[in-house]
Amino acid sequence: MNVQFVDALMQPGDIPDVTESLPFARNAACAGAPLGLFFPDKDQAHAAIEQARTLCRDCPVQADCLAWAVTHNEQGVWAGTTEQQRRAIRSQKPGRPAKAA
Ligand code: SF4
Repeated sequence: MNVQFVDALMQPGDIPDVTESLPFARNAACAGAPLGLFFPDKDQAHAAIEQARTLCRDCPVQADCLAWAVTHNEQGVWAGTTEQQRRAIRSQKPGRPAKAA
Protein backbone atom coordinates (compact mmCIF):
# COMPACT_ATOMS: atom_id res chain seq x y z
CA MET A 1 0.00 0.00 0.00
CA ASN A 2 1.38 3.40 -0.83
CA VAL A 3 0.70 6.94 0.39
CA GLN A 4 -1.52 7.77 -2.57
CA PHE A 5 -3.71 4.73 -1.88
CA VAL A 6 -4.15 5.56 1.78
CA ASP A 7 -4.79 9.20 0.90
CA ALA A 8 -7.44 8.15 -1.61
CA LEU A 9 -9.29 6.27 1.12
CA MET A 10 -9.51 9.38 3.28
CA GLN A 11 -12.31 11.82 2.75
CA PRO A 12 -11.67 15.53 3.30
CA GLY A 13 -12.69 16.42 6.80
CA ASP A 14 -12.51 12.84 8.14
CA ILE A 15 -10.02 13.81 10.82
CA PRO A 16 -9.31 17.37 11.95
CA ASP A 17 -5.68 18.41 11.50
CA VAL A 18 -4.88 18.97 15.15
CA THR A 19 -1.17 19.08 14.40
CA GLU A 20 -1.35 22.58 12.92
CA SER A 21 -1.75 24.12 16.37
CA LEU A 22 1.06 22.22 18.09
CA PRO A 23 4.20 24.15 19.03
CA PHE A 24 6.55 21.94 17.04
CA ALA A 25 4.33 21.50 13.98
CA ARG A 26 6.11 24.09 11.86
CA ASN A 27 9.15 21.84 11.47
CA ALA A 28 7.34 18.52 11.39
CA ALA A 29 8.30 16.10 8.63
CA CYS A 30 4.65 15.05 8.43
CA ALA A 31 3.35 18.50 7.52
CA GLY A 32 1.00 17.95 4.60
CA ALA A 33 1.15 14.16 4.84
CA PRO A 34 -2.14 12.23 4.77
CA LEU A 35 -3.55 11.95 8.28
CA GLY A 36 -4.65 8.42 7.45
CA LEU A 37 -1.04 7.36 7.90
CA PHE A 38 -1.06 8.50 11.51
CA PHE A 39 -4.67 7.62 12.36
CA PRO A 40 -5.24 4.52 10.22
CA ASP A 41 -8.27 2.31 10.08
CA LYS A 42 -7.64 -1.19 11.38
CA ASP A 43 -7.55 -2.79 7.94
CA GLN A 44 -4.87 -0.36 6.77
CA ALA A 45 -2.98 -0.06 10.03
CA HIS A 46 0.19 -2.01 9.37
CA ALA A 47 1.10 -0.42 6.04
CA ALA A 48 0.07 3.05 7.17
CA ILE A 49 2.05 2.83 10.42
CA GLU A 50 5.15 1.73 8.55
CA GLN A 51 4.88 4.72 6.22
CA ALA A 52 4.30 7.05 9.16
CA ARG A 53 7.40 5.65 10.87
CA THR A 54 9.42 6.35 7.74
CA LEU A 55 8.46 10.02 7.98
CA CYS A 56 9.08 10.13 11.74
CA ARG A 57 12.50 8.50 11.52
CA ASP A 58 14.21 11.63 10.20
CA CYS A 59 11.86 14.21 11.68
CA PRO A 60 13.71 17.07 13.42
CA VAL A 61 11.03 17.41 16.10
CA GLN A 62 10.64 13.74 16.97
CA ALA A 63 11.60 14.19 20.64
CA ASP A 64 9.13 17.04 21.13
CA CYS A 65 6.45 15.06 19.34
CA LEU A 66 6.95 11.99 21.52
CA ALA A 67 6.93 14.05 24.70
CA TRP A 68 3.68 15.70 23.63
CA ALA A 69 1.98 12.43 22.73
CA VAL A 70 3.03 10.71 25.95
CA THR A 71 1.99 13.68 28.09
CA HIS A 72 -1.33 14.24 26.35
CA ASN A 73 -2.29 10.58 25.91
CA GLU A 74 -2.78 11.07 22.19
CA GLN A 75 -4.26 8.48 19.83
CA GLY A 76 -2.64 7.32 16.61
CA VAL A 77 1.01 7.26 15.59
CA TRP A 78 3.22 9.99 17.04
CA ALA A 79 7.01 10.06 16.75
CA GLY A 80 6.89 6.61 15.20
CA THR A 81 5.24 5.09 18.25
CA THR A 82 1.85 3.47 18.61
CA GLU A 83 -0.59 4.05 21.46
CA GLN A 84 0.48 0.73 22.99
CA GLN A 85 4.14 1.73 22.94
CA ARG A 86 3.36 5.07 24.58
CA ARG A 87 1.32 3.34 27.29
CA ALA A 88 4.43 1.27 28.01
CA ILE A 89 6.53 4.44 28.22
CA ARG A 90 4.05 6.03 30.64
CA SER A 91 3.97 2.91 32.80
CA GLN A 92 7.72 2.92 33.32
CA LYS A 93 8.61 4.21 36.72
CA PRO A 94 11.59 6.57 37.07
CA GLY A 95 14.76 4.76 38.06
CA ARG A 96 13.58 1.35 36.80
CA PRO A 97 15.02 -0.20 33.65
CA ALA A 98 12.61 -0.53 30.73
CA LYS A 99 11.17 -3.97 30.05
CA ALA A 100 12.24 -5.64 26.83
CA ALA A 101 9.53 -5.64 24.15
S1 SF4 B 1 7.86 12.70 14.71
FE1 SF4 B 1 6.43 11.93 13.15
S2 SF4 B 1 4.37 12.40 13.89
FE2 SF4 B 1 5.84 13.63 15.07
S3 SF4 B 1 5.94 15.60 14.02
FE3 SF4 B 1 7.58 14.34 13.21
S4 SF4 B 1 6.80 13.26 11.41
FE4 SF4 B 1 5.04 14.11 12.56
